[in-house]
Amino acid sequence: MNPQVLVAGAGPTGLTLAIDLARRGIAVRIVDKAGEFFAGSRGDGLQPRTLEVFEDLGVLDAVLAQGAPQAPLLVHLDGRFMMERRMSTWLEPTSDVPYPNPWVLAQADTERLLRERLAEFGVRVETATAVVDFSADADGVTVTLERAGATETVRADYLVGADGGRSVVRKALGIPFEGTTDESIRMLLGDVRADTLDHRVGYWFADSSSPMDGIALMPLPGGRKFQFATGLNTDSGTELEVLQDHVTRRSRRDDIVLSELTWSTVWRPNVRLAQRYRDGRVFLAGDAAHVHPPTGGQGLNTGVQDAYNLGWKLEAALRDPGPTSEALLDSYETERRTVAARVLGLSSALLDRTVKGDPNAMDREGTHQLDISYRDTDDDSTGLRPGDRAPDAPLVDANGTTVRLFDLFRGPHATLLLFGPDTTADPAESPATDRRTVRVVEPEFASGNGEFVDIEGHARRSYHAADRTWAVIRPDGYVGFLGTLTER
Ligand SMILES: Cc1cc2nc3c(=O)[nH]c(=O)nc-3n(C[C@H](O)[C@H](O)[C@H](O)COP(=O)(O)OP(=O)(O)OC[C@H]3O[C@@H](n4cnc5c(N)ncnc54)[C@H](O)[C@@H]3O)c2cc1C
Repeated sequence: MNPQVLVAGAGPTGLTLAIDLARRGIAVRIVDKAGEFFAGSRGDGLQPRTLEVFEDLGVLDAVLAQGAPQAPLLVHLDGRFMMERRMSTWLEPTSDVPYPNPWVLAQADTERLLRERLAEFGVRVETATAVVDFSADADGVTVTLERAGATETVRADYLVGADGGRSVVRKALGIPFEGTTDESIRMLLGDVRADTLDHRVGYWFADSSSPMDGIALMPLPGGRKFQFATGLNTDSGTELEVLQDHVTRRSRRDDIVLSELTWSTVWRPNVRLAQRYRDGRVFLAGDAAHVHPPTGGQGLNTGVQDAYNLGWKLEAALRDPGPTSEALLDSYETERRTVAARVLGLSSALLDRTVKGDPNAMDREGTHQLDISYRDTDDDSTGLRPGDRAPDAPLVDANGTTVRLFDLFRGPHATLLLFGPDTTADPAESPATDRRTVRVVEPEFASGNGEFVDIEGHARRSYHAADRTWAVIRPDGYVGFLGTLTER
């Protein structure tokens, strides 16, 4: 089948994009060169903004059911318990931020849940199928796929390289991947059981002479496994005995017996950013476009956000080709490359602080991705502006049922929010082919004609909205346009 969009790579980025396209009715194929699905915990921290995206895509309930909040860390020095630490302060939900805390789920589980959601749209990942070559022209992309030694030629309107840090798509386009690999820093990571330990908490074992140079064992939800992590000064094996040796030495205990090592790797920090995200009908997303240190837990999350930014723009271009949708496609690079550059700086700074032994480097405030904005770079004014995340807020519908703005935004459409009793006018061009209108009125003006009644002014406060204010919320949940209705 010739798809409208061919997605190369079925990691979290490619899967998110495939779901977003499939739910829009776009014909999508997603291929992965790996014969088996990745089994490790890797990116196990889902940030609050990712949870909001997952809610829109219909995977949040499963993610919440199968994941867990970040566990507290029990710090042990010279074998003695010293204190309990939290990776970040626990925040209570508010009316505009329903999921304020990071959520832990092994990357393999996140990917499984995304695959299950994708299958509900009738799309399955084609495994053991690699993109090996392609050529793009003005009308589409001709892609060569290789499966079990046989090749297939596919014609698609667009190709998206979500094929990871070693992206074949990026290399074929000759797009420089600028940055560094620091060979002096290494980390040994693995998923392993340690049944003597309490699985409800995480552990840090180190010597008091160098308290930041230790090993972490963080519980992974949905079983008895912990994610093991430690810094290395030399080359190291990745076998169970190697991890066991680290644990026994640092904990000064011989009763912690590791077993069932299902994934382990030695990781080197790579900090790189693709010079371009778009080349005509070919796009880069996720690790194919940017790689960062895991400090701050941003990599997977940034890839998910890339995909969510690109999906609706591809749909607009497929349904309504022309200069407007071309500009929209160009905005993918402008918006997302700027964010990646900032994330690279943040995660590198956190890595630097960790390496230098700063105990607060583990505090993950500022990494929730809720403050990401696509404002014009020179616009730093306060108050909601075009490009900002559209906040949630509680409303009441005509039947008296409480509805959240996020319920109204959910789905592939854009949303026009009109505030005030006299809101029959329709002010704005929509950035998407499908738009819904939500009229937000105060209780005394409610006529029961499908208006949504503001609860205690929450929506108004969040949107800085006086009567006759309007806002177009893009399908990816950012403010597209804002304005005031004028008399006609
Ligand atoms: C040790 C470690 C810890 C991490 N911790 C975190 C964390 O806490 N939080 C976080 O957000 N991120 C974390 N990350 C980063 C996170 O794992 C990555 O950012 C994430 O996997 C990127 O997703 P992706 O879909 O862009 O790429 P990938 O997950 O790399 O997926 C790319 C896919 O493309 C496939 N592929 C490759 N070439 C081809 C081809 N030619 N044709 C078809 N398919 C191809 C691959 O098989 C792969 O399945 C961590 C990473 C590591 C290594």
